[in-house]
Amino acid sequence: SPVLTAAGLVKRYGDTTVLHDAALDVHGGETVAVMGPSGSGKSTLLYCLSGVMTPDAGTVTYRGERVDTRSDGRRAELRRTEFGFVFQFPGLLPELSAAENVALPLMLAGTDRRTAITRASTLFPALGLDGLERRRPGALSGGQAQRVGIARALATEPAVVFADEPTGALDTETGDEVMSLLLASAVERGAALVVVTHDERIARRCDRTVAVADGRTSALERS
Ligand code: ADP
Ligand code: ADP
Repeated sequence: SPVLTAAGLVKRYGDTTVLHDAALDVHGGETVAVMGPSGSGKSTLLYCLSGVMTPDAGTVTYRGERVDTRSDGRRAELRRTEFGFVFQFPGLLPELSAAENVALPLMLAGTDRRTAITRASTLFPALGLDGLERRRPGALSGGQAQRVGIARALATEPAVVFADEPTGALDTETGDEVMSLLLASAVERGAALVVVTHDERIARRCDRTVAVADGRTSALERS
């Protein structure tokens, strides 16, 4: 059975209905690409799935627990402990080392600083970041910084990682490398991955693709 289920999602911004009838099931450990034109509602769908936004109608259920009707506090807790997030830009804190940036979500979840940094550092080799633990974000390349962002998303061992155009700011070659490492590290850690992408080649590397058009979702058949 799916770990995360969304059905009948409707989301409006003022008079504009962005999601009309969106649905998505995410099974444990699978990788799902979300594709669709700009402005079709992909980011909004991710926000609703991850409890960042409350849909105007429809349901979101995580391991049998309704997310959409829970308190802001409980949804924030789910985001901290069960979900991981990767964005187009990693948004690392410039005054912290790479390892400290990755350790931050663990510290926020109550792990002591030393243990958090040690555990964070164990993620570095698999992401090709060996030896960069003490670097400041300003001294990292774009691809390295994005991989630190991926490590940070995986640090709490989330069940589901949401990635919104994680390679959108990178050149093709760097983006391919980052995407390979994101897919491999999520799969290796047993996390499901929901990735918004415009890149057909990235979508083909996922287990399946969901198309979003005019706020509606459908399974995309592969040619
Ligand atoms: P996508 O990720 O597919 O590009 P989004 O979910 O970001 O689509 O946005 C869908 C539509 O909703 C777009 O037309 C966008 O301009 C609009 N939109 C997004 N966020 C807001 C907001 N906070 N207020 C008003 N309109 C918004
Ligand atoms: P500090 O005096 O804060 O320990 P260091 O020069 O030893 O400073 O380390 C630089 C940064 O790297 C520090 O901010 C520290 O928190 C962090 N750090 C410490 N130990 C490790 C480690 N094993 N792996 C990665 N980063 C570490």
